[in-house]
Amino acid sequence: MSNDTVFLKIVKGEIPADVVYRDELVTAFRDLHPQAPVHVLIVPNHVIPTAADVTEADEAALGRLFLAARTVAEQEGIAEDGYRLIVNCRAHGGQEVDHLHLHLLGGEPLGPMHVRRD
Ligand code: AMP
Repeated sequence: MSNDTVFLKIVKGEIPADVVYRDELVTAFRDLHPQAPVHVLIVPNHVIPTAADVTEADEAALGRLFLAARTVAEQEGIAEDGYRLIVNCRAHGGQEVDHLHLHLLGGEPLGPMHVRRD
């Protein structure tokens, strides 16, 4: 049994995904359960478990995540109106998949970034 994350399996082409962008450092694919008209996940092609685990060796891939986000936003036609980029980290951030990923959300006004629960 492989210990690869589900996102690494997508990067390797071992499980299907709707890939919208790919280069030597990052891969972008549509979220299985979209929270907005456009919901794309952009992941490094190597596993960084969480934002709390990044190292200097990851700088190129981390920078590329933002360049890919810009490219995909343009491809999806949401660049002009704007969008939201989110990285959830560990338990309190609500991270479900331990392979760092940038959520690209857009296609409609997204409302407040965070609703505080009192
Ligand atoms: P997070 O809570 O930040 O870890 O987000 C994980 C995201 O991955 C969720 O929005 C899921 O809907 C999405 N997801 C999980 N498995 C897949 C998959 N096989 N293909 C596409 N998106 C997925």
